[in-house]
Amino acid sequence: VLYPAGFYARQIPVEASVTLPAGWQFGSALETAATSGAQTSFKRTDLETLVDSPVYAGRYTARFDLDPGGIVPVHLDLFADRPEKLVVNPDQLQMHRLLVQQAYKLFGSHHFSHYDFLYSLSDQVVNQGLEHHQSSEDGTDPDSFIKWDEYASDRDLLPHEFTHSWNGKFRRPADLWTPNYNVPMQDSLLWVYEGQTQYWGQVLAARSGLWSAQQALDQMAYTAAYDQIETGRQWRPLEDTTNDEIINPRRPQSWPDWQRFEDYYEEGKLIWLEADTLIREQSGGKRSLDDFARGFFGINDGGVTPITYTIGDVIKALNAVQPYDWAGFLRQRVDAINKSPPLEGLARGGYRLVYTDAPSAILAADDTEHKRVDLLFSIGLVIDDEDKTHQGMLKKVAYNGAAFRAKLTEGGQILAVNGIAYEADVLKDAIRAAKVDSQPIELIVRTGDRFRAARVDYHEGLRYPHLERQGTGPALLDQILAPRP
Ligand SMILES: [Zn+2]
Repeated sequence: VLYPAGFYARQIPVEASVTLPAGWQFGSALETAATSGAQTSFKRTDLETLVDSPVYAGRYTARFDLDPGGIVPVHLDLFADRPEKLVVNPDQLQMHRLLVQQAYKLFGSHHFSHYDFLYSLSDQVVNQGLEHHQSSEDGTDPDSFIKWDEYASDRDLLPHEFTHSWNGKFRRPADLWTPNYNVPMQDSLLWVYEGQTQYWGQVLAARSGLWSAQQALDQMAYTAAYDQIETGRQWRPLEDTTNDEIINPRRPQSWPDWQRFEDYYEEGKLIWLEADTLIREQSGGKRSLDDFARGFFGINDGGVTPITYTIGDVIKALNAVQPYDWAGFLRQRVDAINKSPPLEGLARGGYRLVYTDAPSAILAADDTEHKRVDLLFSIGLVIDDEDKTHQGMLKKVAYNGAAFRAKLTEGGQILAVNGIAYEADVLKDAIRAAKVDSQPIELIVRTGDRFRAARVDYHEGLRYPHLERQGTGPALLDQILAPRP
């Protein structure tokens, strides 16, 4: 974007227009001024709003009102490759409407004059989630609504991006706010910006019904298990991972678990769960992180202008909800090297992490959707299952796991297991058999034009993470995931 130097982006006026192919519809946070044939002119706005307000357009679209009669309009704008994919049944629509209501109950405010989920159901448009102040760019598989149960795992996407309107866009870390696009951003508080958004995204997914409570628990189990095997925590504090977007903005990376890639999302989530359960316990159930959300993100209802914050503001707002050594709490978890992940929130929430030999339904569906076999918590591999050519290709090798110790690396391909041609079930059978056999699992592995035998000395069977209820009475985590009345 070319703009005059020396001005705040928010003070540079812009009058934009767009010309679309005949018959196309569009969605955007921009306000329409006039339409003339194929051309739409938008109301005068400022450069910051323009850059933050993408237009999605397409031939096959559907628009759903997510808050009929609400204070301001909220819409779900669907864009599909083919018209028959634009099928939203009444239950699905209701869950998305409840998302809006549950978010309003949580934050007690709104910071947009209208909000549009720009949601592509496409094999052509990238499956992403990108937050904006008054809209979000969301992408998923063409069959997401048609095969609802099979595509459950990513269903916290819209709750996550919607949360960003409050956490990230309206309330913004001071070093992430810049006067214009020539000033580099700093990311030191991404464990609030993304970490707490990851938390509320999953909590709101459960509260709105987009996930069942069980699905939310299963996702929490996966995060806890992954953080436990993640070796990077031996050397890298969480705070340092907030530099990942600057060091390596989502380009291919070797050994992401040894590097703790962008851990401020998922481990941030566990830290906020810990804070939530702590507030609930200390206040005797009178207060919770919901009160922090309302007090911190819910100020200046209806206001759109960003209000920045520092870590001192976060600590002050937590103390206003529940007096505690929040500075020490955060410093220990964010700045220090912690060899164990923060799982106290799960324990206080009434659950503990266990492993069984069968994956949760949402994890199994996730494997099918992403055409992979996740054996990360047993022999330490995620294996490609896309088609015959890719079958057996190693997508991820857990650093210092059993397969790693047998010198398997990403990009290698398993051709045979104990002398039998590789198939996912052949490998799973071998892992089961090795539980009662002292012999290592023998693999033939191809890397480039080299073939070799690898012996994986692993005997603990298949292992998949789950949460198991601990104690009696109402569990705090169940209360957290329940819809607000
Ligand atoms: Zn995010």
